[in-house]
Amino acid sequence: MQLFKKKSYIQNKKSMIQQTLAIIKPDSVRKNYAGKILSMIDDNGFAIKAIKGIHLDTRDAKRFYSIHEGKPFFEDLVNFITSGPCIAIILEKENAIIDFRRLIGATNPKEADEGTIRKNFAESKTSNAVHGSDCEGNALYECSFFFSGQERF
Ligand code: ATP
Ligand code: MG
Repeated sequence: MQLFKKKSYIQNKKSMIQQTLAIIKPDSVRKNYAGKILSMIDDNGFAIKAIKGIHLDTRDAKRFYSIHEGKPFFEDLVNFITSGPCIAIILEKENAIIDFRRLIGATNPKEADEGTIRKNFAESKTSNAVHGSDCEGNALYECSFFFSGQERF
């Protein structure tokens, strides 16, 4: 009995249906890359569970990025994310959080692997095309930050 429990716990850890928050950032929306980015998301097996366009104001941007408050790039980050509309999306698949981080590539597009979204579409560390949640706790917080229950499907 105990062994079964242990085994199923390990199996759950290995392959877990997760949700993660993606943002197609203002640079990508401005350059009309949203369709190509959504197509890469679809090709990589993610299901869209919520989606909307949103133009963050400074107060909400500071709240969303509060973990980076006090860092030298914080003001640039807030100015950039509020510079135009974004597209916020809840994505779902097995191991969605790590798999989406792999698909988006490194924060600095110069260091991003071939075939990643940032390699294809990002310009710089600030204008880096997309956001992806980095852990389960942040994914839950970030999905709820953007979407109410009624907005999810
Ligand atoms: P995101 O959270 O947007 O998915 P990330 O997880 O790859 O990006 P974080 O460390 O969470 O990177 O930083 C949040 C954002 O802050 C980055 O997307 C980037 O635009 C900016 N940023 C992070 N580090 C730097 C830096 N050293 N110089 C300039 N901007 C930075
Ligand atoms: Mg991050």
